[in-house]
Amino acid sequence: MFLENAKYNGYIEVIVGSMFSGKTEELIRRLRRAKIAHQRVEIFKPKVDTRYSEVDVISHDATAIPSTPVETSSQIPLLSHNIDVVGIDEVQFFDAGIVEICRTLADNGVRVIVAGLDMDYLGKPFGPMPALMATAEYVTKVHAVCVRCGSLAHHSHRLSGGAKLVELGAGDTYEPLCRNCFNKAKKE
Ligand SMILES: [Zn+2]
Repeated sequence: MFLENAKYNGYIEVIVGSMFSGKTEELIRRLRRAKIAHQRVEIFKPKVDTRYSEVDVISHDATAIPSTPVETSSQIPLLSHNIDVVGIDEVQFFDAGIVEICRTLADNGVRVIVAGLDMDYLGKPFGPMPALMATAEYVTKVHAVCVRCGSLAHHSHRLSGGAKLVELGAGDTYEPLCRNCFNKAKKE
């Protein structure tokens, strides 16, 4: 499998941050550069992320590139044949199997770029993210700006909504907060 990619060195890049930190924009930037170089690019996202569109990876500034929604991580290798670069958005929502999938893709010469929330709204590491970050060659942590004080924000504070981690937000549901403001907000 993927022997046609053997001329490339596979590796894993992880882009993490809070809501409104520009993770998806950074993922799209890297994928666009690969496309300009005529590399074969495929983008996946979990089917749970249906905020805006079924077929596009869309960031909050509406910079979109086509993507394939998948139910489980096991579908990704089946759809990655003959692909040079695999991008995965909202990777935190995948099952734990995503870690092994990314490793196998990279072992077989694929450049794997994943983007996701590193922490949930409680500030706890999110699903498969710790293992992905530990096993990647490159980890980029991007930051939002704290809406209360203007410092760098790395927390996604929930303003409304139920107890489900899978709820995803535009601006009315979450706000990016720095460490100090997040700790204050938790006491409110
Ligand atoms: Zn702050």
